[in-house]
Amino acid sequence: MGKRKIAVIGVGKIAIDQHLPVIDASEDFELAATVSSRGIAHNGLPVFRTAAELYAAMPEVGLVSICTPPGVRHTLVREALDAGKDVMMEKPPTTTISELDDLIAHAKRLDRVLFQTWHSQYNAAVDRTKALLAEQGVKSVRIDWRESVRKWHPGQDWVWEPGGFGVCDPGINAFSIFTKIMPFPVFVESANLTFPANKMTPVDVEIGFKSGQAHKPALSAGFNWLEESGEIWTVHIVTGTGNDIKLEGGGRRLIVNGELILEHGDAEYAGIYDRFADLLDQHESDVDAAPLRLMSDVFLLGARTNGPAFSW
Ligand code: NAP
Repeated sequence: MGKRKIAVIGVGKIAIDQHLPVIDASEDFELAATVSSRGIAHNGLPVFRTAAELYAAMPEVGLVSICTPPGVRHTLVREALDAGKDVMMEKPPTTTISELDDLIAHAKRLDRVLFQTWHSQYNAAVDRTKALLAEQGVKSVRIDWRESVRKWHPGQDWVWEPGGFGVCDPGINAFSIFTKIMPFPVFVESANLTFPANKMTPVDVEIGFKSGQAHKPALSAGFNWLEESGEIWTVHIVTGTGNDIKLEGGGRRLIVNGELILEHGDAEYAGIYDRFADLLDQHESDVDAAPLRLMSDVFLLGARTNGPAFSW
C-alpha cells in the first residue's frame, strides 16, 4: 500500500516544529497540502485558506491533522468528519468536555477514525513508570511543571484568551502522564489559580488531589509559566513500597532511588503518527478524555487570585 495522503490544518509552532518534519520522514504518511489562514505552504505543496477549499479541491486526501488552538477545533473536526475524513487532533482536544463528547459521538455515527493525541504519553519512561506503579502502588505524587510562556508560546495571544487554558495548556501534558500512570482514579480537591491582572487565563496554578484510597496518598501539582531558567517537567513519586521515582524531562528520563534507569530522546510525535497509522489500519478511534476532565475540574473548583500584569 502506498503512503496515506494527509493535510495539516493550522501551520503554527507545533505544526512546524513537529508535525511537518515527522510526516516528511514518515513511511506511512505523505503530506498532500496545508490549510493555513496566513497561506503558509510546505515544500511547495498546495495551500488552502480554508478546510472547505481543501476538501473541494483534493477529495483524494482522506486524513487531516488539526494543529490549531483548541478553541476552533470542534468546528474544524466536525467539518472534517462531515467531509468523510479521518482526524487527528492536537492537545488539548477542545475547550469543553461537551464539545469533546459531541466529536466522539459524531465520529462514531459517521464511522470515521478520531484520534486524540497526548504527546507526553508517547515516552517509554512513562510506560515503565506506569508498570512500576501498578506493581508497587503509590504513597505520594508531586508534579512540578514550570516553563517559559515566552519560549514555548512566543507572541501567541490566544493562550491568554478564554478557552486558551493559560499555563494549563502545558499543564495538561502533566495530567496526560498522571492519568496514564496512576493505578487508581484521582480527583481535584482544591486549586488556586493566579491570573495576570491583564489576562483571562492563569499563569500559575497549584492543585491538591484526593483519591478515595484508604491510605490517603499525598497528591499535588504546581504549574508555572514564568520559569526562565529552563524547563522543569517533573513527576516525583514515592511508591507504596517506598521507592523514590522521578520522571523528568516531560517523561523522557526515569530515575529510581537516584539511579538513572531509562533516558531517551524525543520520539513523541513519531510515536503519535505510528499510533495513527495503527488506528487507521484497524479502523478504530482513540480518544482519552481523562486529562481534559481533570483540567476542567481545576477550573470548576479553583479559587482565583490576581497577580502582576503580563507582557511579552
Ligand atoms: P500557534 O503557533 O499559535 O499555531 C496555531 C496555528 O493555528 C496558527 O498559526 C494558525 O495557523 C492556526 N489557527 C487557526 N485558527 C486560529 C485562531 N483562532 N487563533 C490562532 N491560530 C489559529 O500555536 P501552537 O503552539 O502551534 O499550538 C497549537 C496547538 O498545539 C495547541 O493546542 C497547543 O496546545 C498544541 N501544542 C503546542 C506546543 C508548543 O510547543 N507550542 C507543543 C505541543 C502541543 P495558520 O495561520 O496557518 O492558519
